Amino acid sequence: MIEPSDKVLVAVSGGKDSLGLWFALTQLGYEADGLYLDLGILSGEYSGRSKEFAMQLCERIQPALHIVKVADEMGKPVPVLSFASNREPCSACGAVKRYLFNKFAFENGYTVIATGHNLDDEAATLLGNVLRWQIGYLARQAPVLPERVLGFGGEQGRIGLVKRIKPFVRFTEKQVALFTIINRIPYIEQECPFAVGAASLFYKDLLNKIEERSPGTKWAFYSQFVEQVQPLLDERFPEPELRPCARCGMPTTAEICSVCRIKERANKLVAEIKPQCVEHNP
Ligand code: SF4
Ligand code: ZN
Repeated sequence: MIEPSDKVLVAVSGGKDSLGLWFALTQLGYEADGLYLDLGILSGEYSGRSKEFAMQLCERIQPALHIVKVADEMGKPVPVLSFASNREPCSACGAVKRYLFNKFAFENGYTVIATGHNLDDEAATLLGNVLRWQIGYLARQAPVLPERVLGFGGEQGRIGLVKRIKPFVRFTEKQVALFTIINRIPYIEQECPFAVGAASLFYKDLLNKIEERSPGTKWAFYSQFVEQVQPLLDERFPEPELRPCARCGMPTTAEICSVCRIKERANKLVAEIKPQCVEHNP
C-alpha cells in the first residue's frame, strides 16, 4: 500500500480507528502527517472534543497535524451543507471530506491518503451496496484506489485524485479498539450525532449477529469480494472519465462537481432564510 518514498496524509478524526492508524504508521517508520477536518458539528461539542484527541496524540508522536475548518473552505459548516444538500447527512459529509482531503493532499505534495476504515466498516458498506446492487460503488470498493492524474485544470494547476488506502481493513472494530487501549491512545468515544439511526450501524449489528452464529463470515464476505468480485467489476465497469469541475477545477464526472453543487445550494438556502430572519428579528 505504501512505498518507502511515499508521503502519507492520514485522515484523522479523533476516533479510535484514525488515531490507531496514525500511531501505527508512525511507529512503523512511515512519513505520515495528519489532517483533521473541523466539521463544525457543535452538538455535544463533537468537533471541539474530537480535535482535542487528535492534538493530544500529535503531541505524543510528533508528526505534523494540519487542521482545516470546513466552514473556511466551503463557506458553511457540515450541518448546514448537509441540510442544504437534501442528501443523507453522512452522504454530503462524506463527499465534502473526500473532496477536501484530496484537495489538501494534492496541493501539499502528499502521495497517499490513508483512512482508518476497519473490517466492520467495509463489510457493512459492502452489505449496503449489495442489498441495493450499487454496481458503481461496488466496482470502486477496494482497499487501494490508485492515483489518477488528469493533467492541468487551467489556473488550478495540476489536478487529479491522490491514491487512497485503507490499511486497517483486515482488523475488526474490536481489534482496533484493543490496539488503542494497549497503546494508551485516548480517543473520542462519543458517536457523531449524525450517525444516530444510520443504516451502516444497523448493517454492522446484523453482521455481528451473523458472526456470532458463524465465526469468520465477516472476513470471508469482505475478502472474497475484494479478491474475486471487485476486480471483475472494476474491469467491466471502468470509472467514468474525469474532467475538471467548471467551478473549482477539481476532478469530477459532471460539469460541476457534487461539492460545488452542495455549496451553491447552501448559499442559496442561507440567502433565502436571512431576509426572513431580519424581518422577524430586526
Ligand atoms: Fe460525517 Fe456522518 Fe461521519 Fe458524522 S457520522 S462525521 S456526519 S460521515
Ligand atoms: Zn467543484
